[in-house]
Amino acid sequence: MEGVKEIVEKQREFADKGDSKNVSFRIQLLLKLKKVLKENEQELNEAIYKDVKKSAFETYLTELSVVYHEIDFAVKNLKKWAKPVRVKTGIANFPASSKIIHEPLGTTLIIGAWNYPYQLVLNPAVAALAAGNAAILKPSELPSTTSNVLEKIINQNFDSSYLHVMKGSVELTTELLKYSYGKICFTGSTQVGKIIATAAAQTLTPTLLELGGKSPCFVFPDTNLKLAAKRIAWGKFINSGQTCIAPDYLYVHDSVYNEFLEELKIQTQLVVGPTPKESESFIRIINNKNFNRLKNLIDPAKIFYGGDLDEKESYISPTILKDVNWGDVCMQEEIFGPILPVLKFSEIDNAINEVKRGPRPLALYLFTSDKRIQDKILNEVSFGGGAINDVVMHFTNNYLPFGGVGQSGMGNYHGKHGFLSFSHQKSILKKQLWFEPSIKYAPYTSWKLKFSKLIFG
Ligand code: NAD
Repeated sequence: MEGVKEIVEKQREFADKGDSKNVSFRIQLLLKLKKVLKENEQELNEAIYKDVKKSAFETYLTELSVVYHEIDFAVKNLKKWAKPVRVKTGIANFPASSKIIHEPLGTTLIIGAWNYPYQLVLNPAVAALAAGNAAILKPSELPSTTSNVLEKIINQNFDSSYLHVMKGSVELTTELLKYSYGKICFTGSTQVGKIIATAAAQTLTPTLLELGGKSPCFVFPDTNLKLAAKRIAWGKFINSGQTCIAPDYLYVHDSVYNEFLEELKIQTQLVVGPTPKESESFIRIINNKNFNRLKNLIDPAKIFYGGDLDEKESYISPTILKDVNWGDVCMQEEIFGPILPVLKFSEIDNAINEVKRGPRPLALYLFTSDKRIQDKILNEVSFGGGAINDVVMHFTNNYLPFGGVGQSGMGNYHGKHGFLSFSHQKSILKKQLWFEPSIKYAPYTSWKLKFSKLIFG
């Protein structure tokens, strides 16, 4: 088996050779990736079911179809994205033309989180490969069957000089981080994001950091409460709440607070079924550490619905907490599990101020048809991205850049944004040789100053 040094060197050689500057080569590579994943779907499904009891449908919906869609989108648009872009040239350079060339960054390191173990390494890989880079993928070690299968499938089918999976935990990542890359893409916690950024700074490797945080969701009285509850219940409890952009907590207007809670209970039961523990569609908490962390976030006095725990099965039922306030333990950290605190607000300004007291969220959602309120929240709160009248689904639109801001991340990807994130924008000015005004050359006379001011302001 090849070690870190060999793989990094091989990928550097590949990047230097420049074969991947050919757009057709990249398209073939992406198509092959899709084919290989399709051919091995059953094994990928079985692995994730073994790790976290994720059903084949949910694996398709939240993992594989996301990657297929990203590949199809890149294949369809790559020739257009990769073309040099002509831009205007100012008078200072007359006569000349200007263009931007999208150049591969070279080698890339992609480190994934465990919660969507396939798409969180494969989706950035699609962007990296589309932009003509080589990629080392380091999936999370926590879902171990999943990372084994990913390693097997990718490494058996692709040359390690341009696409390779390395399996391991902190020790391996620490070793990988000793080398420089064109870019490191990290998906994971804000805490580990700081470790990655610190290590990357030593080699001046740029980073794309996809991190976490507490994402709020506002519910206003004018909305369709039933549909809002249904969409929120789905977005929160899919993957058992272990989704970086799941609504972390709800802020519900006091005039509809009790009514909405009742609706949320009904819709949660419909979305996860009456007995989620027995359901084939309700996944488990990844490990004991997270199980116990989540258990401690549930204040039994505030349980409105759910609160069933089974440590042996790593199971926590969908749990709704009522009358929560900012002093509660569940409001002190990102929840990242099937626990949904519901806070009450009467004045939107106060609620906005509370949200703004914390780090800038990865996502924000609001359910209202009132355009003034929509504009107010979008104007006043900084967050990575979000949706009006829905949750989570903005992720699926690859025309939108996906990423955080501040503590929830830096940079973005998906679609063309991913291509640009993994490319260097090389600026080229092409001058003509038939004209050379004397103005920029000494002697710097007063008429040259006057003339320059006339032209440039
Ligand atoms: P994590 O930060 O613990 O681990 C992520 C990766 O970092 C793993 O591959 C792990 O092996 C590696 N790692 C862990 N400790 C390390 C260390 N000390 N040095 C070097 N590498 C280390 O995150 P997680 O528990 O896998 O995922 C949960 C977090 O990820 C949540 O905060 C969630 O919001 C966030 N997340 C963000 C997105 C996004 O797109 N923004 C997507 C999924 C998850």
